[in-house]
Amino acid sequence: MLHAVDNVSFSINRGETLGIVGESGCGKSTLGRTLLHLHESTAGTLYFKGENITHINKRKLSTLRKEMQFIFQDPFSSLNPRFTVFQTLAEPLEIAGSYSKKETEEKVYAMMDTVGLAKRLVNTYPHELDGGRRQRIGIGRAMILEPEFIVCDEPVSALDVSIQAQIINLLLDMQEEKKLTYVFITHDLMVVKYISTKIMVMYLGEVVEFAPTEELFSATWHPYTKALLSAVPLPEVDARPQRIVLEGEVTSPIDPPECCRFCARCPYARERCRKEAPPLAEAAPGHMVKCHFVKEINFNKENTKEV
Ligand code: SF4
Repeated sequence: MLHAVDNVSFSINRGETLGIVGESGCGKSTLGRTLLHLHESTAGTLYFKGENITHINKRKLSTLRKEMQFIFQDPFSSLNPRFTVFQTLAEPLEIAGSYSKKETEEKVYAMMDTVGLAKRLVNTYPHELDGGRRQRIGIGRAMILEPEFIVCDEPVSALDVSIQAQIINLLLDMQEEKKLTYVFITHDLMVVKYISTKIMVMYLGEVVEFAPTEELFSATWHPYTKALLSAVPLPEVDARPQRIVLEGEVTSPIDPPECCRFCARCPYARERCRKEAPPLAEAAPGHMVKCHFVKEINFNKENTKEV
């Protein structure tokens, strides 16, 4: 049986951003989709504003959709190519059915202004626009019903670096104005550092480290997080940690063995790691780490492999 995500438990407060980071295939997108019922979970419980929403009917789900939205990685494939900007932004309002034609028009133009799309683009189609503008439409469409909770699945990874910062700043501005709650999924640690209140690092469907953002970057405990961090190209030479090279095969997510799932690649793996799965335990206040030897191993530069 394929276990995409196991034993993941967390809460997010209103106005916060939870960053979920990990390599592709680690289960972060599955987790994001599960939160919005775009992917059915086989176990576990979901609460939204104190209400158990694990098993809800279609009617309740469509009501919930107004409050919970998704921003996709690739706006080009998520936008209807036959819809103009106006039609794309107006559609959620029309489906909601509670807005007059005039209100819909006003809301569409107001949202175009909010996301930085010029009015002259109202009748253009996705293929006529660049990636940044297409993502602005994707964000506008997700936000037009004024949701409180938004899952952003790699929303900038398909964009040029110069555009990425603009889109992230747009998301941050909207969050500040509306006190929005984000789950921000990415493989890029520096992006989550910039945008997140707390960060969850996932490896092969499991959380391996979870901490407030500042804490995670000032005291990185898990060897996998350290390896991710060491691969980030930092401009300041002194700030660069020594590169940790991960060797070994990635364990199969199909019926994973009862051991540390990272043991085949971990430079600190010992016998116990191959026999027993470590618990996700508190290494410091609010800082959870999934490693048997988090206190014993000196995860310092001297112990890391250099390239
Ligand atoms: Fe590495 Fe062992 Fe810790 Fe797993 S439990 S991360 S293999 S030291």
